[in-house]
Amino acid sequence: MLFSVPTFDVVPVVATKLLTLVCTLAVISNDIQHVRGLQEVDPVASAAGIDLSNYHNYTALQSLFRQLSEDYPGLARLHSIGKSVQGRELYVLRISSGLDAIKEEANPVGDDQRYPLLDGKPMFKYVANMHGNEAVGRALVVFLAQYLLKQYGREERVTRLVNTTDLWLMPSLNPDGFEAATEGHCYMTAADGGSGRPNANGRDLNRNFPDQFHDGHDRESLLRGREPETLAAMKWIVSNPFVLSGNLHGGSVVASYPFDDSAHPSRWRSVYSAAPDDEMFRALATTYASNHETMKTGHVCHGDSFANGITNGAKW
Ligand SMILES: [Zn+2]
Repeated sequence: MLFSVPTFDVVPVVATKLLTLVCTLAVISNDIQHVRGLQEVDPVASAAGIDLSNYHNYTALQSLFRQLSEDYPGLARLHSIGKSVQGRELYVLRISSGLDAIKEEANPVGDDQRYPLLDGKPMFKYVANMHGNEAVGRALVVFLAQYLLKQYGREERVTRLVNTTDLWLMPSLNPDGFEAATEGHCYMTAADGGSGRPNANGRDLNRNFPDQFHDGHDRESLLRGREPETLAAMKWIVSNPFVLSGNLHGGSVVASYPFDDSAHPSRWRSVYSAAPDDEMFRALATTYASNHETMKTGHVCHGDSFANGITNGAKW
């Protein structure tokens, strides 16, 4: 079911730069044909009644997630962690059993983005589409949400996952960029003739998080120059005890793991930047890549050369 590629920010406060360039099945194209092809190869999705035929734009995504949270009140709850530059909600669908035991309350506001915990359940999150024109990760998160909810109680693995894990699925950190992108255009940047990679202020959100080695650690340094989407994600991440995360991008097929930034970056060569949990990160990335049909080869996209389909973000 999943083809996408995570990068993990197990220690989000330390790994202050949120995540890495990572990629998905759709390799270099946002063409929906890639996704449509899944319908034929994924009988499980078909059997579960999940429509893989189209991307969901902002309006369609909003109504789908609202519908899911209404249809599965004990399993799904829709939140927004903030708003984009153009005022679109930054939606997150929380999926876990026992959510009906948590009192319905407004989204946290201000600096405290803390949500009530589900006793004993580790928090996991996927964030996709921070580059608005990298759309396949977004589609996969939308499909995954439906898959988990529709197969709960039917499929043992799904039931166990939803019973034991507090899952947060964010299909888009850059909804403005997605709306600005053109389906079928896989150009990365405006310079290449593409649109939608940055947010509505023209900023690359994947380059907008603090650099732990070169930015100050005082509050002002952490907040200065951050875009609304970046700030919303930062507050959400530091306010809640996520233990594992994946960030989905397009462009290569690889599982990239922290750190992305480096204490001693070189202009001439990339330098491995080990996180304190380096061994764990490598094990996680290897698990992901080795269970992927082609990622483990490390040579899926033109120019890709990744041993076992994984890379340290800074070394990339
Ligand atoms: Zn990206």
